[in-house]
Amino acid sequence: MSKPASHQASTIRRLYGLLTPYRRTIAAGMGCLLLSIAAELYPPLIWQQVVDVGLMRGDWGFILWQLALLLAVFAVGQAFSAIRGVLLERAGQQLTLDLRLQLYHKLQRQSAAYFANRRTGDLIARLTADVEAVQDVLVRGTDSVVANALRLLGVAAIFIYLQPALGLLTLIPMVAVGLLLTRYNANVRPVYRAARERLGELSARLADNIAGVRVIQSFAQERREQIAIEQLGQQLYDEQVKAVALRNRVFPVIRWVASLGNVIMLGGGVFFILRGQFTLGGLLAYRGYGRYFFGPVDDLVNINDLVQRAAAAGRRLFEVLDAPETIRDAPDARPLPTPIRGDIRLEGVTFGYDPARPVLRDVSLHIRPGERVAILGPSGAGKSTLLALVARLYDPDAGRVLLDGHDLRQVTLESLRSQAAQVQQETYLFNASVLENLRYGRPDASLEEVQAAARAANAHGFISELPQGYDTLVGERGVKLSGGQKQRIAVARAFLANTPLLLLDEPTSAVEPESEALIIEGLERLMECRTALIVSHRLSLARSADRVVVVAGGRIVEEGPPEELLARPGGHFAAMVRADSAFVTLEDQQRAAA
Ligand code: ATP
Repeated sequence: MSKPASHQASTIRRLYGLLTPYRRTIAAGMGCLLLSIAAELYPPLIWQQVVDVGLMRGDWGFILWQLALLLAVFAVGQAFSAIRGVLLERAGQQLTLDLRLQLYHKLQRQSAAYFANRRTGDLIARLTADVEAVQDVLVRGTDSVVANALRLLGVAAIFIYLQPALGLLTLIPMVAVGLLLTRYNANVRPVYRAARERLGELSARLADNIAGVRVIQSFAQERREQIAIEQLGQQLYDEQVKAVALRNRVFPVIRWVASLGNVIMLGGGVFFILRGQFTLGGLLAYRGYGRYFFGPVDDLVNINDLVQRAAAAGRRLFEVLDAPETIRDAPDARPLPTPIRGDIRLEGVTFGYDPARPVLRDVSLHIRPGERVAILGPSGAGKSTLLALVARLYDPDAGRVLLDGHDLRQVTLESLRSQAAQVQQETYLFNASVLENLRYGRPDASLEEVQAAARAANAHGFISELPQGYDTLVGERGVKLSGGQKQRIAVARAFLANTPLLLLDEPTSAVEPESEALIIEGLERLMECRTALIVSHRLSLARSADRVVVVAGGRIVEEGPPEELLARPGGHFAAMVRADSAFVTLEDQQRAAA
């Protein structure tokens, strides 16, 4: 077996392995399927009996008995078919649910690095469409393949049983139809694949353009985007039409070959009846099975497609399930003591998102409990990265990060993160009320506690003025609030979390000056009596810190109390403050001139 084929086979095997927990339900469903197919195939034999025995003998008793049997068989067949439908649907839906939960659970444990390298839409498609596809193929697909295989085998057996020579002759067109369909599928598959790819491109482009419509409009690029969409749409049209044209060229031929089956049946049937080797009832029964010439064969030659579809969706699911969790609790991880003192130590830390290109090189830093440390440096120097290492969003490639003397790799993530509140440059709010967003980290907080936190964060004022106050819905990602308001909600959340350690990453960079002053006021209150690491271009926050650390080129290039660094001639911090005040003076002059 070639490599990809064996890979595919192992994916399929693994997929069927997913059904193990539901094997009883599925086995019962398959049992019902077998019985319902038997019931489905029985009636033409009753026709044969009625004609060859009842009619020939003029035996009404026998005929009525057969008619009653016909009704009973039909009823039993329908009952088994209905039970099988419910059983298989139950197994299928249970599989869908379990698989989705398993995937979600896995994703929740994944690291920041994992999500940085993936697209949200793609992950969502895996949890929704791919799960559906796997379920569909494994349960419904298997059901239909087994049912059709049983029908074909059953019919072939009955044909040969009724009249061996005629049976074999009649099967010839069936085999020919199978071969023709296989060839057609091989030809049409690439066309359908191309159409699917075009559709994917078109959807991706549409999603991108709708999300970025303001950029398109502000650069007046509507015409160009329109043309690009038109081209993609046209390509999709061409592929779709090509597929349908191919189908309509080939299918009439296949149907014609299938109709040969009827010709053989009728001609051969009469021939054998005249020779006394067949009966009229037998011919009627044959006729009854005529509908199995095309449908089941069509379905069975599609198995390959089915298998490929399942394998593709399955691979995408297993990729998520098998991805290693880079940031996870060590087997012997212990919770940090509560509360921590807040003593942070970086010892010879080297780290790069791509280990070949380190962002931080051999960085050592000690932050004492209760200390407020401002981290400054040029853009891309690795300031946010340093914070991310303290929150253990990543593990260092070399060296270690210690909290109260415990290596972060040896403590439980839960105990670390529940004691370190973070305020980021941009705050993500859930599409819920302000209150629910504030309470996110502490769902049991009372309204008084929430309001006290909001007051301390300078957020109570604006929240009270919202249409429904604390119950106002903030919209998707919090679009109904300004950047500054969202940041104040983030600060209030941190107050409510009341953690000994604070990690603040440019908390004021995305807001206008008035709002910034309010946030800074809230932050100053928040940082009292806590160990705080703050990355900010706001030099006022740096000047009120206990210590300033300047990072550049992946190393700490300057470190010390702000006054001391200011007095250092030629120092980085002193230069930054000079540049900042020059900038402020320039702004003042411009404002005065205006
Ligand atoms: P800024 O002041 O502009 O926010 P920073 O000092 O906080 O910069 P970092 O965000 O720590 O810088 O980034 C340091 C380097 O790492 C940059 O070169 C950046 O391009 C790179 N980087 C940051 N995040 C990732 C990521 N998730 N994957 C790969 N590279 C990253």
